[in-house]
Amino acid sequence: MRIGFIGLGNMGGPMAANLAAAGHEVRGFDLAQPCPEGVAAAASAAGAAAGAEVVVTMLPSGGALRAVAAEVIPAMAPGAVLCDCSTVDVASARDVATDATAAGLGALDAPVSGGVGGATAGTLTFMVGGRKADVERVRPLFDIMGARAVHCGAAGAGQAAKICNNMILGVTMIATCEAFALAGKLGLDPARLYDVVSTASGQSWSTTSYCPVPAVGPASPADNDYRPGFAAELMLKDLGLAKEAAEMAGADTPAGTLAAELYRRFVEEEDGRGRDFSAMYPRFAARGRTGA
Ligand code: NAD
Repeated sequence: MRIGFIGLGNMGGPMAANLAAAGHEVRGFDLAQPCPEGVAAAASAAGAAAGAEVVVTMLPSGGALRAVAAEVIPAMAPGAVLCDCSTVDVASARDVATDATAAGLGALDAPVSGGVGGATAGTLTFMVGGRKADVERVRPLFDIMGARAVHCGAAGAGQAAKICNNMILGVTMIATCEAFALAGKLGLDPARLYDVVSTASGQSWSTTSYCPVPAVGPASPADNDYRPGFAAELMLKDLGLAKEAAEMAGADTPAGTLAAELYRRFVEEEDGRGRDFSAMYPRFAARGRTGA
């Protein structure tokens, strides 16, 4: 397949490289990054998109997506599919899909989970919004870049699934970190709390797959000095998008809003930037009840 790939950063670079390694003809463009091996460099986003059957975008924000979409939609051949894999706000995803559809193109929002490790290994999970026919056309590419692609519904449903999942993750990670810090202050060995929680009703992915306490549970960023993994500022971004979506939909999400505020403080006012999002555990462990 002929593919245009725009946004070749930490995630997009290895995703584009995997498509090229699988034998597809990939033309890439990024404002700042070089093309990975096997990907031909285009001079512009429109140049990467012209003549492509599928254009994949992997960009930092809804603003960047809107700017790139305005450039590539007129350059794309009728019937081609614009597949955005960035994590962006639901409104940008829906607006771009509307513009692409009006221009006779297919459009998918297909944000991912799995991080840079998943992008490199080709084991990402895609959460996809858009028409079924477009999902099926792009599925062979999802199968190369990822291990699983779930069709979540109409345009915007992929972004909705992504931010709802990550709101659960952010809230449960904070609850897990503060509970393990409380356990320590009660004189309870965190390894014993792990034994209980991992098979009891407090169980979640944050405990059993990504325990935030060093040397407890399976290996996780806590065992690597909290090097990411999934950086706290990326969690802050996703919780901000969840908050924005809740405001748009008139939904009451107090725990999600509090999690966003705690991660904002952690990243902007404490030492959280560049650390894994599970570094909330040493934060809580070091603090007393009044925050001191
Ligand atoms: P990144 O900053 O490394 O890459 C984004 C790239 O987009 C940059 O290289 C930048 O130069 C390029 N870019 C920006 N505007 C552009 C434009 N107008 N035209 C062309 N290129 C442009 O970010 P990343 O870590 O690769 O993340 C990409 C997306 O994936 C984000 O939306 C992020 O939230 C999401 N995501 C990231 C992770 C992760 O672990 N890094 C995990 C899941 C989802």
